[in-house]
Amino acid sequence: QTELKTNKLIEQDKEHLWHAMSRYNEKASPMIATKGEGAWFTDINGDKYMDGVSGLWCLNLGHGRKEIVDAAYEQMMNLSYFPLTLSHIPAIQLSTKISELLQGSYTTFFSNSGSEANETAFKIARQYHTQNGNQGKYKFISRYRAYHGSTLGALSATAQANRRMKYDPAVPGFIHVPPPYSYRSLFGENAKNSDLLAADYIEQVINWEGADTVAGVILEPFISGGGVIIPSNEYLKRVAEICKKYDVLLIVDEVVSGFGRTGKMFGFMHSEGVQPDIVTMAKGLTSGYLPLGATAVSSKIYEKFKENGSNNHLRHISTYGGHPASCAVALKNIEIIENENIVERVSQLGKTILGELHDLIELDKVGEVRGVGFLYGIELVEDKVSKTPVSEEFMGAIIAACKNKGLIIGRNGDTVPGYNNVLIIAPPLSSTEEDLRFVVDTVKTVLYQLC
Ligand code: PMP
Repeated sequence: QTELKTNKLIEQDKEHLWHAMSRYNEKASPMIATKGEGAWFTDINGDKYMDGVSGLWCLNLGHGRKEIVDAAYEQMMNLSYFPLTLSHIPAIQLSTKISELLQGSYTTFFSNSGSEANETAFKIARQYHTQNGNQGKYKFISRYRAYHGSTLGALSATAQANRRMKYDPAVPGFIHVPPPYSYRSLFGENAKNSDLLAADYIEQVINWEGADTVAGVILEPFISGGGVIIPSNEYLKRVAEICKKYDVLLIVDEVVSGFGRTGKMFGFMHSEGVQPDIVTMAKGLTSGYLPLGATAVSSKIYEKFKENGSNNHLRHISTYGGHPASCAVALKNIEIIENENIVERVSQLGKTILGELHDLIELDKVGEVRGVGFLYGIELVEDKVSKTPVSEEFMGAIIAACKNKGLIIGRNGDTVPGYNNVLIIAPPLSSTEEDLRFVVDTVKTVLYQLC
């Protein structure tokens, strides 16, 4: 009976549910989750797995936090929906809290996702420059390997050709520059401070394009989806200085790095003195319990939308953006992060885990082990000298071996064929020490066996 039901569901899944990124692996049955508990979930066959990538790096507090569910329930019973053309209390409280967490004076526009948060940022940036008397500033600079979302504007900032090419033409005005990727640096792999050379290159591009045409630079403090690229803290400082010099807005995409993932409340806070013009958030803002995107802008920008009456209003709206229940969930999520000292915990434990994973560097096929907080990438190569990426099949075998042992990890890197060779590990920030031990031990066992 149960088997029949399961087979039926798999059949229906294959026929009717369009999976993200692909039509899934046609040969294998899709993994259908039925229950979650902390950092673990159970699939339809009753097998239990530790979620080593927090869903899509969003389930930061794990499954089943009753306080968060209660917050959503109470909010929905009290006020089920209300638009932000007007206002409601959870949105007011959350925007105020975000401003406090960003340690500046920020005003937030709410949407539903990371992609939308970035789209909103682009529109605000262009309108800001126009209202600031610089109508010609419309271009955005982003880095190769970066992922900023799936909608056409965010996809145009996403400098991974394979994700874009079937949907060309991209939105005009998006320019791409090399990432601060010292392991395979375009500025010479042995160049000292190659990440700073990558930062300086942005200045060069601003000059080449004409500073009076460039609206903003968008970047993640640490490239996550593009292979976990961790520049020195100086990199963002240098980029921030360059942006300031040319009146180019610094847009920091904290969709993955926000709310503790990197061992600071926000990733940009690793770089002392950096205060972004715009910060975009999603995922960790609600720990994945409900959808919510946020675009926080500094008072310098918001001022330009207050002046001269309705002509200067932002012509942008999102029906469900800032849904009362999503805002209530975000507030509870942040309260838990603060009360349980999650950020400090991630910072401390993160260093230990990275140290342990770093032992793997002695293996021939481990090119580099990178990470910050609870975000790790292990770059696999044929050998350390040629740095030739291992095959897709080899990556698949590692991931399958971890899965067989009950651990889900991911892979990422570049969409350039053959360069999807970085193992990704990003456990929930609330994982117990036992959970984390399991992650490290499993990854090490598998890599020592196969590499
Ligand atoms: N920015 C970054 C850095 C992301 O990783 C993602 C999602 N993976 C997005 C933006 C887009 O977020 P969403 O999927 O919620 O639209």
